Amino acid sequence: MSDRNLPRDDDYWDALLRQIDKQLRELGAWASGGDLREKILRLVRLQASVRKTGPAILRRHGLGARAAAERLRLYFVQYPQTPIDGAELAVVAGISEYARRVRQLRVEHGYLIITGARLHNEELTLRPNQYYLLDVQPDGDAARRWHVANRIRRSKGGSRERVLRYLRENVGRAVTTEELAYVARGAKEYARRVRELRTEEGFPIATRHTGRPDLKVGQYILLSSDRRSQEHDRRIPESEQKKIYARDQNACRICNWTIQQWREDDARILELHHLLPHARGGRNAADNIVVLCSRCHDDVHRGKHTEILARLRQAVAEDV
Ligand SMILES: [Zn+2]
Ligand SMILES: [Zn+2]
Repeated sequence: MSDRNLPRDDDYWDALLRQIDKQLRELGAWASGGDLREKILRLVRLQASVRKTGPAILRRHGLGARAAAERLRLYFVQYPQTPIDGAELAVVAGISEYARRVRQLRVEHGYLIITGARLHNEELTLRPNQYYLLDVQPDGDAARRWHVANRIRRSKGGSRERVLRYLRENVGRAVTTEELAYVARGAKEYARRVRELRTEEGFPIATRHTGRPDLKVGQYILLSSDRRSQEHDRRIPESEQKKIYARDQNACRICNWTIQQWREDDARILELHHLLPHARGGRNAADNIVVLCSRCHDDVHRGKHTEILARLRQAVAEDV
């Protein structure tokens, strides 16, 4: 957006300050007497002048733009991964309807901006009226996803069904808490539904702590539409899962496969495997569980890799 037609910085700034000063003095002189309505109208004019200072200050920092949405964009990109208050955005935008502009950045331009009102995540705490840009790079796929989210939000079925439908239409692609909450029609709702899909139905839904370190906080991904974890693997506590993925550095303990090696014709995922089967008394804890790629995991359950597994059992027991 062009800055060419904007008034010169210093002149504009000085004039603005003089105007505010004058308006403030006039209001002060009127404070003890006079007509109420007149005072309110003067206050309205004063506030309109004050609102212009936000955009003016931004311009002095090289973030000038005529459109409020563009000013917001420049500000977010300047302070990524930082909680930003709604009140702050109102100052930057110079208008009170900043929320609609933020939505525009998110839905039309693909900026991954999450809000506290729709975040249910122990890793990042935002107040309901705080905003947070996950990545300075916009997501080229976001507009399409919002289109899908909109359709699914209005579709029939319970919230779990809608969340699953949305994840399934985005297999292998990261989605944000913002999108999931929108589809589920509630922040607490989506968090509960994702947990159920993982623990009750065994869907491989990963985060940055469970095998996908490339994801940002507040992003989820359904790794595969057809693969489900086995019944006994579904109840491993999330805290334990995080510990295991961190210890095994998000790589298969047998072949060292990581997400960096993912290919369309070799679409593996990372899974957890009990060294001593759960059924035979193996613990649901890090000292009995390792990360395996889905290919090695299948091999293991077909009876392969027995020597490596024996070594792993020992290493893991000593490691924890
Ligand atoms: Zn492997
Ligand atoms: Zn297994």
